[in-house]
Amino acid sequence: MRTNIVILTGAGISAESGLGTFRDEGGLWAQHAIEDVATPEGFSRNPTLVHNFYNARRKQASAAQPNAAHLALAKLEQELNGDLMIVTQNVDALHEKAGSRNVLHMHGALERALCNECGHRWEAPTEMWPDDPCPRCGALATRPDVVWFGEIPYGMKAISDALASADVFAAIGTSGEVYPAANFVAEADGLGAHTVELNLAPSSGAAHFGEVVLGAASETVPAWVNHELTRNRA
Ligand SMILES: [Zn+2]
Repeated sequence: MRTNIVILTGAGISAESGLGTFRDEGGLWAQHAIEDVATPEGFSRNPTLVHNFYNARRKQASAAQPNAAHLALAKLEQELNGDLMIVTQNVDALHEKAGSRNVLHMHGALERALCNECGHRWEAPTEMWPDDPCPRCGALATRPDVVWFGEIPYGMKAISDALASADVFAAIGTSGEVYPAANFVAEADGLGAHTVELNLAPSSGAAHFGEVVLGAASETVPAWVNHELTRNRA
């Protein structure tokens, strides 16, 4: 039976690979205010500080390894009879490192650079600085290609299209507090998809899910993937 699956992943899936978020105490984020390092205004005020922050995150992310949850999702994509899209809120490349191919980075990626002047994108070097010229237009307007608070996430049309043909929607390790991602479950549910949340603790959107599985992603995700593949082959 063909099954189309859309999976939203958040910080919870990368936490077990050692990558922290702004909700954690300690770590990179604890040293900075969100408005200083994750808003366009903060970048205008102090681009060196913001580049420093993302340079450190890029270095940390490039050393991180995918965990059992990332690997299970890559296996699901390979073995599924149907379409699978991973929509991730994460800016690390752990899904790709695990072997997933259809990954949409709705909040951008640490591995990419963006020119604020002409919109050109390229592969980010290990370290980026305000005086790096854009390789296309030469402007000194280089920024990390990540979506900051107050900016519009990437790929919303592609995500809507995927949700419209989804039989199953799963949200993994996401707080359900960041919009528009928090609305995806309502959208999928309204279109008749089975909805499942896999999370450490129930999210604020847990009531909207048909099924909630609690536990560490490295344990719950491989079990869920096996379950989906068994149903898919039946
Ligand atoms: Zn440019």
